[in-house]
Amino acid sequence: MALRHLVIVLGDQLDASASALDGFDPAQDCVWMCESADESARTWSSKQRIAVFLAAMRHFAQTLRARAWPVEYLELSDHSLDQALVQSIARLQPAALVVTEPGEWGVRERLTQVNRQTGIALDVRIDRHFLCTVDEFARHAKGRKQLRMEYFYREMRRRHQVLMESDPQAADGYSPSGGQWNFDADNRESFGADGPTKVPARSRFEPDTITRSVLALVRERFADHPGSLDEFAWPLTREQALQTLDDFIRQRLPEFGCWQDAMWAGEAWLYHSHLSLALNLKLLSPLEVIRAAEQAWRDGQAPLAGVEGFVRQILGWREYVRGIYWLNMPDYLYANALAADQALPHWFWTGQTEMACLRDAITQSLNLGYAHHIQRLMVTGLFALLYGVRPSEVHAWYLSVYVDAVEWVELPNTLGMSQYADGGLMASKPYAATGKYIERMSNYCKKCPYSPAKRVGPKACPFTTLYWDFLLRHESRLASNPRMALQVKNLARITDSERDQIRAQAQSLRAVQSEQR
Ligand code: FAD
Ligand code: SF4
Repeated sequence: MALRHLVIVLGDQLDASASALDGFDPAQDCVWMCESADESARTWSSKQRIAVFLAAMRHFAQTLRARAWPVEYLELSDHSLDQALVQSIARLQPAALVVTEPGEWGVRERLTQVNRQTGIALDVRIDRHFLCTVDEFARHAKGRKQLRMEYFYREMRRRHQVLMESDPQAADGYSPSGGQWNFDADNRESFGADGPTKVPARSRFEPDTITRSVLALVRERFADHPGSLDEFAWPLTREQALQTLDDFIRQRLPEFGCWQDAMWAGEAWLYHSHLSLALNLKLLSPLEVIRAAEQAWRDGQAPLAGVEGFVRQILGWREYVRGIYWLNMPDYLYANALAADQALPHWFWTGQTEMACLRDAITQSLNLGYAHHIQRLMVTGLFALLYGVRPSEVHAWYLSVYVDAVEWVELPNTLGMSQYADGGLMASKPYAATGKYIERMSNYCKKCPYSPAKRVGPKACPFTTLYWDFLLRHESRLASNPRMALQVKNLARITDSERDQIRAQAQSLRAVQSEQR
């Protein structure tokens, strides 16, 4: 029988209820999945990142085959996604291609190109995984001089009735649970001198036969790629993802809010959910995660402050960054508002640096494919911002290293939130701080040869030197930002001669790093 639909399932679309599979008829349709070599090579992906995608895709194909659905699955070879698709079209002669909206601008472009080249109809269906469509976000953004996540988040809370209570006094009949939209003031503590206690063990999934064969393949074929597979234990199927969710809700959510921003050397997992991979591969829906967290609060199992903080990450930030991505692509890729022009220091790929915070965060990222938000934003990201690394190189590093890295979410977080390269679209001010922030939120500085309070001299913390140099370099731009006024005002207390010392020390820091390449 002639093939009706060739249904393309991309590596981050592993959801059997995705719109592309609506009306799938095994008698006349076929699923198409492809492990494309260019995807692993185009971004210099870490071994963990390559392995999670391949292993999760193979498990998903197995799930579909178990339903007796035909699956055309192309295992890794040298083909690119579009070349492989053109060849499959020539062989299978489908009447049309069907796909759920790709998460990456470049992939959507390539599929459109295939459609032009082959003349085969391409049906791009809306991605129901997200709680705000690309068009809805564009409508939210239209006419606003400045976008701010907080207002978007409130709209989303109302629209999806999350953490809302009926309230006859309120204009729309609802007000936020607990009478506030945001409980940040109750969250975000640092650990005491003894550090975290009784951190629950990470959910681990020992590799099965499929995963073991992928790990062997990656070890052999991508031996020179960064990172290690020794600690590989990620959830790769929907069942495992649900187990990870359940484990988080029961064991970590009650403590999540308090320790959301805290760091501790050698403690990678802490009280975070580790759900970003499962969410981004679409093994879990954001709404089911949000509802589970809300229910835990309603059942008295977790405090409202922490639950609200967690919900804001998913219903607020995650949806917001996706909106920003699609609103601004493809120009967003090239944003560099602060004209940063330094190469990424080589030790970002090895972790071999004397700076204790960076050594820990980078080594952990390479070994586990994971770091929590504050490690990404206020350790690696902060250093790159202050040092003045080209945003495109920072973007390439984040996209490479983390298992949850998919461009729609990674790019706005890196370029926008962490590097301020979009000039303030994502964040109202640069996340710039001295080493004292890291000292307050972690124990890293205790094991470091540098002193976070010092900005010049042999013991000066590089973050602190580079922070003041950053303010000096961008003084006129930052002075016009009311949210930076206090920070910029502090420059007035620094004498001209100390300014010269800061500049000279920052310059020699950069010279040393570039010599080590
Ligand atoms: P938790 O701390 O448990 O948070 C719960 C969930 O909220 C996460 O699983 C995630 O889905 C969502 N979330 C939290 N913060 C954000 C955010 N800022 N943007 C979008 N979603 C958020 N997240 C990715 O999923 N992929 C990336 O490639 C990515 N790159 C980042 C790069 C930089 C420079 C920064 C600063 C942040 C990045 N983030 C990225 C956001 C965030 O750091 C990760 O989602 C989080 O650390 C994942 O760990 P977790 O699942 O334990 O999160
Ligand atoms: Fe990091 Fe500076 Fe603290 Fe060392 S002193 S751990 S470089 S913040």
